[in-house]
Amino acid sequence: MDLAIRTIKGSGTDPGNSAGGPAAPTWAPVPPTHVPIDLQRTPDDRFSGSCDLYSVEHNRITILSTDAAAHRLPSGYPLEKVVESDGSANYYERQELSSKCSRSWRKIIGRFLAVKMFGRVSDDSGNDPKIWILKEFPLHYTLWRHIKTADQRRSRQDVLLYGTTEVTNFASPYEFILHAEWLMKGKPYSPGPKPKPQCGCKYCSGRKQQVITQELRDLERDLIRYQHARTGNPSTQY
Ligand SMILES: [Zn+2]
Repeated sequence: MDLAIRTIKGSGTDPGNSAGGPAAPTWAPVPPTHVPIDLQRTPDDRFSGSCDLYSVEHNRITILSTDAAAHRLPSGYPLEKVVESDGSANYYERQELSSKCSRSWRKIIGRFLAVKMFGRVSDDSGNDPKIWILKEFPLHYTLWRHIKTADQRRSRQDVLLYGTTEVTNFASPYEFILHAEWLMKGKPYSPGPKPKPQCGCKYCSGRKQQVITQELRDLERDLIRYQHARTGNPSTQY
């Protein structure tokens, strides 16, 4: 575990060049204002712990910090189903917490937050109850499906996470992971007359999402390799 945590911290200090990009990174991470807590292993072999910024209950992460506001909703089209007389439609549909879509997003976000924040990996066997998940989105964040239908054969749907006051929205769970990490670390801002979020997400840092996603996957892979090396058992979760 100690080595795993050091691996994560070490990786976090050298971002930006893992995909063969330009030599000078455009984003420089800073120490978080909050040191990740030590989680306690529960009797059911999961993890729990809490601080003033987030809590973990049996691998279910709740982010107590937020940068969102209730009025930050989708705009431009109705927030309820409206179908025109010719069959076309263009509206947003709220994705409730219990929806398949919400759960899918929260599983991906929780999985990589566990890797980034705690050096833990979800069991990849699919239905294993030990998976890590974001229990709910931070306060005033809401998930929406934008449905655009021209006719029966031409339809487009995009799922978007709204609420943040820092950027417009997040268009995939992978886009939100590092912004969620920034929330969990106490929302540090750069010093100076024009403070900016010291956040590694695509929108705050200007980095390419492809690079960010690859870094996250590499980090998870290294963690799994380390754990397998420790236990000699690829099915064991640590
Ligand atoms: Zn961000």
